[in-house]
Amino acid sequence: MRCPFCGNEETQVRDSRWAEDGAAVRRRRACPACDKRFTTVERVQLRDMTVVKAGGRRQPLDPNKIVRSMAVALRKRPVEGDAIEAAARGIVQTLERTGEAEVSAAEIGARVMDALAALDAVGYIRYASVYKDFRDPGDFDAFLAQARKLPNGRG
Ligand SMILES: [Zn+2]
Repeated sequence: MRCPFCGNEETQVRDSRWAEDGAAVRRRRACPACDKRFTTVERVQLRDMTVVKAGGRRQPLDPNKIVRSMAVALRKRPVEGDAIEAAARGIVQTLERTGEAEVSAAEIGARVMDALAALDAVGYIRYASVYKDFRDPGDFDAFLAQARKLPNGRG
């Protein structure tokens, strides 16, 4: 594993431990060249999935993109980064377990909406306002009325 700080090819494993209930191994590494430390996470990947976008373009499923899109929706909201990562990981694991090689961007969006609904009503509304492509304010009103019924929607 190459050092992310200085690019040195050889790094030493200082510590390995299970994470995510045995689904991953977290390794603490040290670089003998620059003496910096970093962590790698090794995770079982059941299958490489491809995301099919609305226009038909394909790209590899990137869990970090799911984390980022959720983080944008949850900006300045009281949701921990760990909770966002756990939710994104749950989405990816669920998708991988379907055994399908491809998933539509729309399905990922729907799963992100479900995850956000469970985390934070405001984040859910923010994400949905982009994802659902409301045509007019009336559509948004109907959606908000429904969002207020969420457990954390304070409705
Ligand atoms: Zn280094």
